[in-house]
Amino acid sequence: MNWLRKFMVGRYGVDQLSIALIVVNLICTILLRFFNSSILNIFCTIISVIVIYRIFSKNISKRYQENIKFLNIWNPIKRKVNKRIQRIKDLKDYKYFKCSNCKQTLRVPRGKGKISITCPKCKLVMIKKS
Ligand SMILES: [Zn+2]
Repeated sequence: MNWLRKFMVGRYGVDQLSIALIVVNLICTILLRFFNSSILNIFCTIISVIVIYRIFSKNISKRYQENIKFLNIWNPIKRKVNKRIQRIKDLKDYKYFKCSNCKQTLRVPRGKGKISITCPKCKLVMIKKS
């Protein structure tokens, strides 16, 4: 492992963008097993080259900037997906409403009958069945 450590000195290494590209490459490789397309094959190869190039790159600041750009796009998507998953998990115990005034999402416990809900954002009071 010592030679690898020496080799990696001053090189960028793995970041979130590289991991994402590796995942894309993996999906691409799986798809290649089903569709023997030359375009897909080229796409897979290009991604592999990009990943290897980025990991061993010595232009650390540029790779870092690329990763920041990627995270700026990826993080909101991840947050949205996590929110959706959380909602599905909560469906048994909670009911979701949208404030008719400010569109804020409100979560209330299920099975409490008719309750008045006050929007925490705009203070609008609604009567809803929970
Ligand atoms: Zn509101």
